[in-house]
Amino acid sequence: MQKTRRVPKTQGVQSTRLKRFAATLGALLAATIGMIVLPVQAHAEPTFKAPFPCGQKWTYAHFSGEVRRALDFIRADGGTTNGTPVLASAAGTATRLSEPGGAGNYIAIDHGGGWKTYYFHLSAYSVPSGAQVAQGQQIGVTGSTGNTTGPHIHYEQLLNGVGQTIRINGTALPYPSSYNQSYLTSDNGCGDGTGTPYMTWGTDVRVHADATLDSPVVTTLPGPTSVIVVCQKQGDTVTAEGYTNNWWSKLRDQGGFITNIYINDPNAKLPGVPEC
Ligand SMILES: [Zn+2]
Repeated sequence: MQKTRRVPKTQGVQSTRLKRFAATLGALLAATIGMIVLPVQAHAEPTFKAPFPCGQKWTYAHFSGEVRRALDFIRADGGTTNGTPVLASAAGTATRLSEPGGAGNYIAIDHGGGWKTYYFHLSAYSVPSGAQVAQGQQIGVTGSTGNTTGPHIHYEQLLNGVGQTIRINGTALPYPSSYNQSYLTSDNGCGDGTGTPYMTWGTDVRVHADATLDSPVVTTLPGPTSVIVVCQKQGDTVTAEGYTNNWWSKLRDQGGFITNIYINDPNAKLPGVPEC
């Protein structure tokens, strides 16, 4: 952007003063921005949520010989730990990893800003490596692969590779040395009670007013987007990206439908999402 402003020659002195004033103002602004930047960086930590489903109550502990600042979680609400979905505690990029003699099958999520979370001992992965996942999205299934005495979620939060004291919803958890001393009830994936979080993929994905291709386009998703799916229904059959599907998802915040092809989930019909 270029702006040209003509200054009459008779105002040359004023112009110089103005420049000095502008320089001082610029320095002041730079100093102010410098002061603002630090707190913003300090707040780069994602607001992590529990790595298990909404409403479930689990107990946790940090056992002797445990790596870094890990906590191990088992269910404490009468449900069975083994086979329970493991959820992304914040949005990010998931990677599948395996360490048969230790972590077993595990997922690492890169949240940006140097932050990562680990989820060990999975019986199964629920997302491919490189998947963009939303907070609350299922990334795996609780199991006991690797070096473990029983099914549990071994969970970690790391900053630049260093294990941090685990914080959930901004609050640091205690580190008891055995189970049944501290408990955590999950509000992860609860949404507002009317939806399930997913990531979309693809570029320039059109959101339609209805589950049909000829209904008006209400908005376009330029790239992978975190969305809340409120319900799904069958509509026009769409063939794209090598898939064919007639299920469409209603997006809470965009107020329209996208074909399930662009919902980052391997199922044509999303499991657990009600029909519209
Ligand atoms: Zn552990």
